[in-house]
Amino acid sequence: MSRYPCDLHGSRVAGPLESIRFTAMHGATSVTRRLRVCPSHHQELRRQYLGEWELATEAGPSRPINVCTSCKQTATNRAMPHPTYAYSYQRGLDPEEYWGNYCDDCLELLVGQLKLEPDS
Ligand SMILES: [Zn+2]
Ligand SMILES: [Zn+2]
Repeated sequence: MSRYPCDLHGSRVAGPLESIRFTAMHGATSVTRRLRVCPSHHQELRRQYLGEWELATEAGPSRPINVCTSCKQTATNRAMPHPTYAYSYQRGLDPEEYWGNYCDDCLELLVGQLKLEPDS
């Protein structure tokens, strides 16, 4: 059994857990949460949230930062207010970092769904 419960199962599972951390910038502050999850919930989170995000590269973001990653709303002359980051640690693989840019409405949903909390 896993040492800790899977955050989405709410119970311990057979086999080791993986982890995924979501962080979103909120002005000078940030909200974040690291979820410990079983591999299948990890894949579900990646599908559900990271599908539209960009895999980080050394070259930096290749997408326009004035487009919301989630709803595709485009702002004129300004960046989306909330850069977002996810670090995905899958067993046996190098950690992967993903980038997104969220509008206010989509960030509110993300924070509520993933229960992101102010970084202390
Ligand atoms: Zn699970
Ligand atoms: Zn949006």
